[in-house]
Amino acid sequence: MSMKDARGRPLHDLRISVTDRCNFRCTYCMPREHFGSDHSFLPRDELLSYEEITEVVRGMLPLGLKKLRLTGGEPLLRKDIASLISMLRGLSETVDIALTTNGALLRQHAQSLRNAGLNRVTVSLDAIDSELFQIMADSPRWTPNDVLEGILEAQRVGLGVKINTVVKKGLNENQILPLFQHFYEMKIPLRFIEFMDVGNTNSWNMNDVVSGREIREVIEHEYGEITPVARSVRGEVAQRFSLDDGYEFGCIESVTAPFCGDCTRARLSANGALYTCLFTSKGNDLKSLLRMGAAPEDVSRAIVDIWSKRSDRYSEERTKQTKPKEKVEMSFIGG
Ligand code: SAM
Ligand code: SF4
Ligand code: SF4
Repeated sequence: MSMKDARGRPLHDLRISVTDRCNFRCTYCMPREHFGSDHSFLPRDELLSYEEITEVVRGMLPLGLKKLRLTGGEPLLRKDIASLISMLRGLSETVDIALTTNGALLRQHAQSLRNAGLNRVTVSLDAIDSELFQIMADSPRWTPNDVLEGILEAQRVGLGVKINTVVKKGLNENQILPLFQHFYEMKIPLRFIEFMDVGNTNSWNMNDVVSGREIREVIEHEYGEITPVARSVRGEVAQRFSLDDGYEFGCIESVTAPFCGDCTRARLSANGALYTCLFTSKGNDLKSLLRMGAAPEDVSRAIVDIWSKRSDRYSEERTKQTKPKEKVEMSFIGG
């Protein structure tokens, strides 16, 4: 059964935040002044258990779900994450399972993730220069080399690999070319993300956004003509581009070229609420339903009810908004 929201969009992707904790403090996501030692993260019993997450996915698969992405916070901080992947793989041999990570712990986990049935990882890396990496990630314990070793190991064990880079004006624009060169040589697709106004703590300002078009100009100047690649599946977040020799990279332009019309994504927060848009302030509580012992059909029915009422299109409306609205943090809802 395929189901559509109020704007005719199906539910194809679910992003699952498995934890609101992180070992980085990226300034654009979890700035230390807001996520310091006095910040209250979710207590353990508020987190959905792996069994509960599996029940949500079981209820969603018959509705047309095709892709799962484990995220957070930092998903590799959650204990024995590979066992969640095995449980999800047990529900379907064909569903695509991906994980987004900052890469710090990837080297030690890659093999077990692969063995459990993970298909792909997206690794975030905003700078290859150590000092800039520190400025962006604000976590002195880790270096770009730790992340690069994780990427190599993920490739070695046979995981699909993509890289995400957030570009912030005046901060890491000078990393566009070094990162591009590095991953072009490795033949790994790199996706540049426009700095977004998620959450309420990252002091977002339109002047700090480097547009996808500006990024492509930098690359074109160095590598020659860039050709847009037609989107192959509905709901693909990155617009892909290719160089003459066939190397493909992407731009996620949710600020300057919003793609709400094709948004087929739902998000499950670490404490079991279903969000129908990255920018909403309120989720739909599924945890209570699960903890009352709901049957899979009840979970499916609740999801159909939530999704069929969905009409979100925040990114398309952003410019019309006059005052900032209260939003949920990305580390909580899952990026
Ligand atoms: N910790 C993992 C990581 O960094 O890959 C997974 C969670 S993180 C919230 C998921 C993605 O969201 C990362 O690629 C990160 O760069 C991106 N992100 C976080 N805050 C952002 C913002 N304000 N604008 C654009 N992308 C952002
Ligand atoms: Fe952590 Fe990822 Fe957010 Fe950085 S972007 S603070 S690594 S959750
Ligand atoms: Fe989807 Fe909301 Fe982002 Fe639009 S703003 S693409 S509806 S998550």
